[in-house]
Amino acid sequence: MSRKVLIIGETRDGVLRNVTFEAIAAAKTVSNGGEIIGLICGESGLNPLAEQMIHFGADRSIVVEHSKLETYTSEGFAQAVGRVIEQEKPEAIVMGHTAIGKDLTPKLAARFETGLISDVTELEEGGDNVVFTRPIYSGKAFEKKIITDGILFVTIRPNNISALDKDTSRTGDVTAIDVEIGDLRTVITDIIKKTADGVDLSEAKVIVAGGRGVKSKEGFDPLYELAEVLGGAVGASRGACDADYCDYSLQIGQTGKVVTPDLYIACGISGAIQHLAGMSNSKVIVGINKDPEANIFNIADYGIVGDLFEVIPQLIEEIKQVKV
Ligand code: FAD
Repeated sequence: MSRKVLIIGETRDGVLRNVTFEAIAAAKTVSNGGEIIGLICGESGLNPLAEQMIHFGADRSIVVEHSKLETYTSEGFAQAVGRVIEQEKPEAIVMGHTAIGKDLTPKLAARFETGLISDVTELEEGGDNVVFTRPIYSGKAFEKKIITDGILFVTIRPNNISALDKDTSRTGDVTAIDVEIGDLRTVITDIIKKTADGVDLSEAKVIVAGGRGVKSKEGFDPLYELAEVLGGAVGASRGACDADYCDYSLQIGQTGKVVTPDLYIACGISGAIQHLAGMSNSKVIVGINKDPEANIFNIADYGIVGDLFEVIPQLIEEIKQVKV
């Protein structure tokens, strides 16, 4: 059975986030040959982004431009996307399992009285239905789910499903839909950026994370240097955040961000279950810890037993030599 699928695109600083392209790739499986429509909401100037969604696999795109969509609010975006769903009547809606995806899709699924499968890490054809795999119990197990009835809302975990290759020769219609957005009870007055400039943690291919073993704010300096030579981002355990060595926006784990980079280097992190819940699906895990019994070594692909302040500078030197 083919399905018409709507992708809700997401931007940051005026640029489409990678997870939008990954959502289009996921939609290929969900659509089973049906039409794939990109949707982008914002204040103005969205046509180039709508075209980019077509280059990455959408058949056509829709833009909704409105002054009340300048910054994300649940109410404003739910009204805008809701109108598009009413008009287009897609059989499935896919977006990233990001802060915005986690906020918007349950609201819309409730409004359309239908199901939502969140945090999908894999999807495959299964007869008339699509079989979705998602983690449960903080990543200790995976369940497979199908939805057999009604519109299907899906959020996909960033960095799990590969985007299709960009093809700038792909063409498709870009249409604007006018929506009326009523009074919003939420008014954004200011946005304070907490995360450091550079690679976004949730989409980073390489993460160098520090724990209580880093011992101080300054102790994070070599981790930033290692992340820089690897083109990655810096993350942290809650232990490091609680000790005020870094900002909570870096926290990875059950109550922090869930990440799935190609390479995760855990430095001075013991490997508590709550930390593993946020990073155990990383493709390659390296643990650096001076305690050979540390739990991080139970899930690490490579373990280095040693003092991180001696190991990391040596790694940086080696990597710089390989890169020359
Ligand atoms: P520690 O457990 O103290 O480990 C420090 C490690 O550093 C040790 O293994 C030590 O051997 C090593 N070390 C010390 N010095 C060096 C050195 N010089 N070189 C190399 N290694 C060194 N934690 C999270 O991370 N994320 C979460 O989202 C999260 N959510 C939680 C939710 C709940 C409800 C609860 C109860 C807890 C949560 N925690 C979370 C906390 C978690 O249980 C651990 O306390 C925390 O992860 C420990 O952080 P850590 O590994 O940095 O510190």
